[in-house]
Amino acid sequence: MNEIPKIVLNTGKDQSPKRFHPWIFSGAVKKTPENLKNGDIVEVYSSKDEYLGTGHYQKGSIMVRLFSFEKIVPDVSFWKLKIQNAYNYRRSIGLTDDVNTNVYRLIYGEGDGLPGLVVDYYNGTAVIQTHSIGMYRERDNITEALKQIYGEKLKAIYDKSKESLGSSGTKISSETEEEAALKNGYLYGNDSEKQVLENGHKFHIDWEEGQKTGFFIDQRENRKLVAHYAPGRKVLDCFCYAGGFSTYALSAGAKEVHSVDSSKAAIKLTDINIELNFGKDTRQASFVADAFEFLGNKASEYDMMIIDPPAFAKHRDARHQAVMGYRRLNALAIKGIKPGGIIFTFSCSQVVDKYLFNGAITAAAIETGRNIRILKYLSQPADHPISIYHPEGEYLKGMVLYVE
Ligand code: SAH
Repeated sequence: MNEIPKIVLNTGKDQSPKRFHPWIFSGAVKKTPENLKNGDIVEVYSSKDEYLGTGHYQKGSIMVRLFSFEKIVPDVSFWKLKIQNAYNYRRSIGLTDDVNTNVYRLIYGEGDGLPGLVVDYYNGTAVIQTHSIGMYRERDNITEALKQIYGEKLKAIYDKSKESLGSSGTKISSETEEEAALKNGYLYGNDSEKQVLENGHKFHIDWEEGQKTGFFIDQRENRKLVAHYAPGRKVLDCFCYAGGFSTYALSAGAKEVHSVDSSKAAIKLTDINIELNFGKDTRQASFVADAFEFLGNKASEYDMMIIDPPAFAKHRDARHQAVMGYRRLNALAIKGIKPGGIIFTFSCSQVVDKYLFNGAITAAAIETGRNIRILKYLSQPADHPISIYHPEGEYLKGMVLYVE
């Protein structure tokens, strides 16, 4: 076995990896070996030559993503153990064998000690998104591990890394073969079952053409809470994508549900899912429209709203703009909603933390002058775990508001 290349940190920069934070920033690095390529596995050492961790190297501000803090040989059995560990955790919290839910996130990057890797499980199909060249290179090991863990149950593995590697700050330099040849496709099996169950609701998932890995699994528990408040209300599901919130609201007995998204493809998915669960239900209607405009014109018709926009900021320098966006959007909703109305409002921008988001909502409320009670703060579910050593893993936050 070839020796693993060594990266040495500057004096005093060993604190972060010693506290199990998985990112080594380029500013902390004193010395890198020559000829290192994006995706290479490296070992990180302190200036006193203490071993600190093993990870994937990539040029950029985060230079190493550590996947082990113990000296290991990163072979197939290592990856299998890591993935088995993620699976066991989900089994222990009741996600892998739930008869009403067969869609969940199996691996959530840093939260599962696997920076750069996301795997979602859709009723027999695993959809992989890698966010680093290093993880992209582990595809064969990951495939092997998934097949062993799930056995017969796993029908297909689809790799959707083209989008995740191309965006999310990863620079494709075409330095390596992998980067140049990047394309989506099946790593195992093919065209498998595309219908899943979430808390007993049916959803058609299009991982090939849909957004992200195909579905926003992270809203599973928040959808349940929407169902709690929906009976008898006229609900506006803004930024509805595949109609997750709309479906829960309808099945819980909402009086009416309007689903809005600016994407035609998203509205098509919503329509498919509404029909899948309710046939032709006259209580629901879909609109291809800009949510800001729709709220500006129609907000006063509703006594319940879900506001779940895409990330307004993907980087720190867009943070201020994002906060202003949340404020403007929520001011439209709060201003318009009927007295006694309920608003579920969300942000999935990682760089806007819960305090900043809370501030944006408060500013929106002040702008309208209405009296508001906070019923609940919302977050991401346990299959998107936040490592206590990596608070940056928290990205989804929401509030439930009662507007007098
Ligand atoms: N609520 C959804 C996920 C929303 S993802 C769920 O539970 O599954 C964000 C959605 O916002 C995407 O479908 C995207 O097409 C849509 N979108 C983005 N900009 C928009 C805009 N200005 N108006 C309406 N929809 C928009």
